[in-house]
Amino acid sequence: MDKKVRINELVKEINRHSYNYYTLDNPTISDADWDAMLTELTKLEAETGYILPNSPTQNVGYEILKGFKKVNHPAKLYSLDKCNSYEELSNWLEDMYNKWGVNEFSVEVKYDGLRILAKFENGELVQASTRGNGVVGEDVTKQVYMINSFPKAINYKDHLIVMGEAMIRNSVLEELNKHSNEPLKNARNAAAGAIRNLDLSVVKNRNLDLFMYDILEVNNAELKTQADVHKFIIDNNFASWDYFKVTNKEGVIKAVQEIDKIKNSFDIMIDGAVVKVNNLAIRDKIGYTNKFPKWAIAYKYEAQEKTTKVNKIIWQVGRTGKLTPIAEIEPVELAGATVRRATLNNYGDIKRKDVKINSLVFVRRSNEVIPEILNVAQHNSDSIDIVKPEYCPYCGTKLVEDGANLFCPNKISCNSQVCQKIIHFCSRNAMNIEGVSDKTIELFRDKLDVNSPVDLYYITREELLQLDSFKSKKADNFLKSIEKSKQCNFANFIYALGITGVGDKTSKDLANTFNSIEELMNASIIDLANINDIGEIIAASIYNYFRDTRNISEINELIDCGISINYNRKVIKDNQFNGKNVVISGTFDNFGRVELTEIMENLGASITSSVSKNTYALLLGVNAGSKLDKAKSLGIKIIEEDELLKLLNLSKNELK
Ligand SMILES: [Zn+2]
Repeated sequence: MDKKVRINELVKEINRHSYNYYTLDNPTISDADWDAMLTELTKLEAETGYILPNSPTQNVGYEILKGFKKVNHPAKLYSLDKCNSYEELSNWLEDMYNKWGVNEFSVEVKYDGLRILAKFENGELVQASTRGNGVVGEDVTKQVYMINSFPKAINYKDHLIVMGEAMIRNSVLEELNKHSNEPLKNARNAAAGAIRNLDLSVVKNRNLDLFMYDILEVNNAELKTQADVHKFIIDNNFASWDYFKVTNKEGVIKAVQEIDKIKNSFDIMIDGAVVKVNNLAIRDKIGYTNKFPKWAIAYKYEAQEKTTKVNKIIWQVGRTGKLTPIAEIEPVELAGATVRRATLNNYGDIKRKDVKINSLVFVRRSNEVIPEILNVAQHNSDSIDIVKPEYCPYCGTKLVEDGANLFCPNKISCNSQVCQKIIHFCSRNAMNIEGVSDKTIELFRDKLDVNSPVDLYYITREELLQLDSFKSKKADNFLKSIEKSKQCNFANFIYALGITGVGDKTSKDLANTFNSIEELMNASIIDLANINDIGEIIAASIYNYFRDTRNISEINELIDCGISINYNRKVIKDNQFNGKNVVISGTFDNFGRVELTEIMENLGASITSSVSKNTYALLLGVNAGSKLDKAKSLGIKIIEEDELLKLLNLSKNELK
């Protein structure tokens, strides 16, 4: 394609997306894709020397909204120079060190919000404004007044302009989207759209936070470093995200890596880390380029979010019969992996987000979760509605609708449900039967007529060896694993049943409350709902599960085929060890290590391997190692065997 034609195209496209993003706060493309287009344009402009007057490389597409008063900023608000690799970051740090002798830097998170300036006189908020185009912003004083968590009066009584970002916490956004007909596209635009809104109730309802990180003007000679500024901000009750470090150039790289590791656990969206020369006087010497301060740099993390096209929807049927729509998408590189599929949770989710086939959507990848479609970026002329399925794609049974969900009611012979149920039964927190994949179960279903978990226990070695993929070693391993699973803990057994709403944690709670499976089966809804952390819905789900005769006969069959459940003894709560961390060290005359661990666990203690300030007591046997010194130095309670016997109210004779 002719380069000039491409330039015209890019300018038009980028300007359209910029307008949607900056002026309407309604993004139609991910930041990563926008950046990519801008990079391509910059490169083509450099190659050809052909630069359009309205090129986004010449200005930022930010328009002051009508209805807002303009605010002239006291000085130009710079943005930060950015880098994407540790090599670039390291070069910058070396540069600061070699040219200026600087080896003390601050590291903070880079908020992905809307930049706000707040002016205080005599300790009171007098004006707040957006960054706007860096020279002129919008007056949003009234809007900022609506932010509950932002202090309108502070201790510091002199002139002050403090700078930060308006944000919506992820948890708040999730909550808002649960109750709104039109979901907000992302935290950044939800915050920006609230602040830049003349309807003040919108700001109030969106529950914003303002995180402050810098000071533009202040008459305070005591502030000499970024660390002082950070402390000043906190001392005056402004919000600030709980990550701030001052370190040397090696430490900077470590800190930036550390933030990358933990950022997905934050309740706010950050898109990078900001590194600054800590000393303010040295910064003045280092100075600015036309666009950026030379004494700071932003490290941008890989995008967690991209835009891509929906090609097709596949309906998966889980072990409870629930249908989950999975979108096959045009493959995108996202946080270091190629993403081809993204979930849409349920049919209600599709409707709410208005997702259509052939539409462009935002896809986000986060830790340990399969990528999710957040919402629509834009529909295309060939976008088509996703049809609500009427029949199960696996067994053809007519589906049942319950709220936002569709269910296949065919619990007995729906292939997908049966497979998923067996896979769940074999999983690690359940019966922990190794070497079982989706493919294996399908094979077992197909060739060995395995239709329920209990059928696994009747598979013979001869049968396995008939299967192409099973050689003798694999067959033996499988049978060994099956045999081993017959000795199982009560909590794992409960989890393996796959009762709707009963996960790992609830299974443990149930196992700790009831003395046997019979007791659990006979529990009333009230008994169940009385357990901490179990609500009425889950209680009813458990109760109903045990009222279904098919489930009862399945449990009986499992017991009949030789499964033996190890019950926990009930935890005795009324004692000093309940809920405490206890360390055991050395050998004991009256107890084996395993036995003592079990006794302590029955008293509600958690046994940990090393002594720390969170340790409640050290149980001290003979030949204890360094743990004794550590416990002494931390002033932790030390209990020797004689005293322990007394505490446990047991005599040596009773134990033998
Ligand atoms: Zn089905």
